[in-house]
This record gives sequence, structure tokens and C-alpha cells, in this order.
Amino acid sequence: MGLSKMIWTNPSEFLRNERPLSPVMFFAPSVLQATARRFIDGFPGFVTYAVKSNPEEVVIQNLVAAGIRGFDVASPAEIALIRRLAPSADLHYNNPVRARHEIAYAVEMGVKSYSVDSRSELAKLIKIVPAEGTEISVRFKLPVAGAAYNFGAKFGATVERATELLSEVALHGFVSSLTFHPGTQCTDPMAWDAYLRAAAEICRNAGVTVRRLNVGGGFPSHRLNTELPQLDAIFALIRRVADEAFEGAPPALVCEPGRGLVAESFSLAACVKGLRDDEHVFLNDGTYGCMDELPITGIIDRVAVISPEGQRREGEARARVIFGPTCDSVDRLPGEVDLPGDLAEGDYVVFSGMGAYSTATNTRFNGFGEMSVATVMRLTV
Ligand SMILES: *Cc1c(COP(=O)(O)O)cnc(C)c1O
Repeated sequence: MGLSKMIWTNPSEFLRNERPLSPVMFFAPSVLQATARRFIDGFPGFVTYAVKSNPEEVVIQNLVAAGIRGFDVASPAEIALIRRLAPSADLHYNNPVRARHEIAYAVEMGVKSYSVDSRSELAKLIKIVPAEGTEISVRFKLPVAGAAYNFGAKFGATVERATELLSEVALHGFVSSLTFHPGTQCTDPMAWDAYLRAAAEICRNAGVTVRRLNVGGGFPSHRLNTELPQLDAIFALIRRVADEAFEGAPPALVCEPGRGLVAESFSLAACVKGLRDDEHVFLNDGTYGCMDELPITGIIDRVAVISPEGQRREGEARARVIFGPTCDSVDRLPGEVDLPGDLAEGDYVVFSGMGAYSTATNTRFNGFGEMSVATVMRLTV
């Protein structure tokens, strides 16, 4: 993937000058840094970044510049990446199932915080990780509420199992903590409410005072024109309910947003390859490319269409089916998307809020997937 050194004013300036044939991701460092500061100033605790949502080096560098000092990592490669770009940052290895050689690597790299959701994986940690000064966070789950899809389907112990695990973590002399992830793209602040109350109950039943409570990622990004993310309301709810549930003495809080931190700082421009019989729009990017997660998380309707001359199309909206470039019939965006009626072959469709789970999951399936990143001062087309 190419990253040009030039900084452009905005996406349309780039598009009319470069007329790119492959998809382009526009990155605005100013937007990323402003979002990071919003989290650091607003969240009542320590803000870490979930690296998997977008591990581009420019993303990590700008987050560090904005004051992010902790990272949620899930693999040896992510550990190595952050150690290289942010040597003094805290690493939280919060993938609850790890091979023994992965745990040994983390220990060697000085990782001091791990999550766990099962007895078998805790047994591995007890054997390989020195207890002194190392945090183990028990990850629990509740039946899903408020998220775009069910995160508890893969990870998280039940409340009962988490209670046993927490006692055992404390017994072995680790720094004892709790963690959960309410599910990604939680637009309703109440998604955190039941989790915070369950965390307090687990601590009471285990008879353990935890050092920290990690409230996960799940912070929403702006995907639909009609639905603005309520970050401040979420921060306020977390602060209030943690206080209530732990009777005025909550543990130190941690969060690990991926999407909520990075999504807004990138827009994706995909070119209209064909407008099939004035009906179906075929783009040069789709669900095997940067729009990989749209079939799961739902459509992004914050879309602008730019002509090759850099003019914004303003025609009356018309609902269109959008396909990606591959020959696989599932390569289609969910539902229909309102696009200007005067859209034409060669135009660029620019999707806002595309920074999370996009560059990271882009594939080369069917010979497509070539993509570049262009830095812009601002993302307004
Ligand atoms: C993916 C992940 C996150 C980030 O989730 P978002 O919904 O993108 O905020 C945070 N924590 C863990 C453990 C994860 O696996």
C-alpha cells in the first residue's frame, strides 16, 4: 500500500489532480488527534487503543502524538509493532486465547497485562508469566444488548465462571482486574450499564477488590446521517454507574476503543467502474476490500459523489444497489444506498467514517485490493 508524502487540502483536490484508478483512503491526522483528545479528556480513566481496528503506522504515530499511552494488542506482531513505534507504552495482551510460544514472547517483550476467560488459559498464564507486578483481567460476558453484533459468542466467561477465575487470579498473587467488551458499535449508552453492575457483583462474590476495570471497546462511530454517536453520554453513564455499582469506590477504569477512536479519521474513495443499465453501481472496492465489515455491521450512508473534475454531484437522491469489483455474488453492500441521480461512470463515491476494520481487512481476492492512503488537511469533500 502506498502512502504519499504530500499533504492534500481535501479528498476532491486529490481526486481531480490524480484521477486514481484504484481505491484511495484519505487520512486526516487532525481528525484522529482531535478524537483521541476527546477520549482522553472525556473518559473517566485510562484510554488505550485496540490496534487491530487499524494498525497503520501513521495511525499509531498520531495517537502517540495526541497522548495515547496504552495499546490493546492481540498477537506477537502487534506487540512488536507497538514496541517499535511506542517503546514506553503500556501493552495489554487482551486476546484471551494464546499459544504458549505467544505468551513466552509477550513476557520477553515486557507485557504486564493479560486477559483470561477460561481455566485452561489461566493455567497456561500461571505457568509462563511471573505473578509479581503482572495484571490478569478476567473477561466476562452477559447476553448481548445494544451492539452491532454479538461479541460474547467467542470470548468471555459467564458471571459464575468469572467469579471463580477472579478468586484464582488473586490467590496466585497476580494484580487482579476485570474486563468486558459490550460488543462493537454500541450506540446506546445503556450497553455498559448491566456490565458495570455485573462487574461489581463478581467482585463482591469473589471477595476480591480489583485494581482496574476495563470497559472494553464498543464506542460507536458516526455511520448513519441520522444517528450521531453520543460519546459524552456514554462517558457520563460509565462514570455514574461505576460509582453506583461499586458504592463510591470504583476501581480505576480503562477503555480500549478501536472503531470509536479511528473510524472518523479516514474516508474511502471508490471509483464507479460501471453503471449497469442505469441500475446497479459497480465500484472498484467492495466487501473483499476496505468495506469488508459492512455486511456485518451495516451500511454507512454518509456518502458524497465527486465527478472526475472534482465537482460534487447534487442530483436528486436515488436508491441504488452497490456491488464491489470481484466476481463473487456476495460482494455487495447491504441494502440500497441513496446516491445522487446524476451519478456517472468514472465518478468517485466517498464514504466517511471508514477508518476502522477497513485497511486492516482489505484482501487481494480476485486480483483486486490495490489501495493507497493519501493524507489530507480535512475530510470535507
Ligand atoms: C476488537 C477489540 C476492541 C475494539 O473494539 P471496537 O468495537 O472497535 O471499539 C477492544 N477490545 C478487545 C479485547 C477487542 O478484541
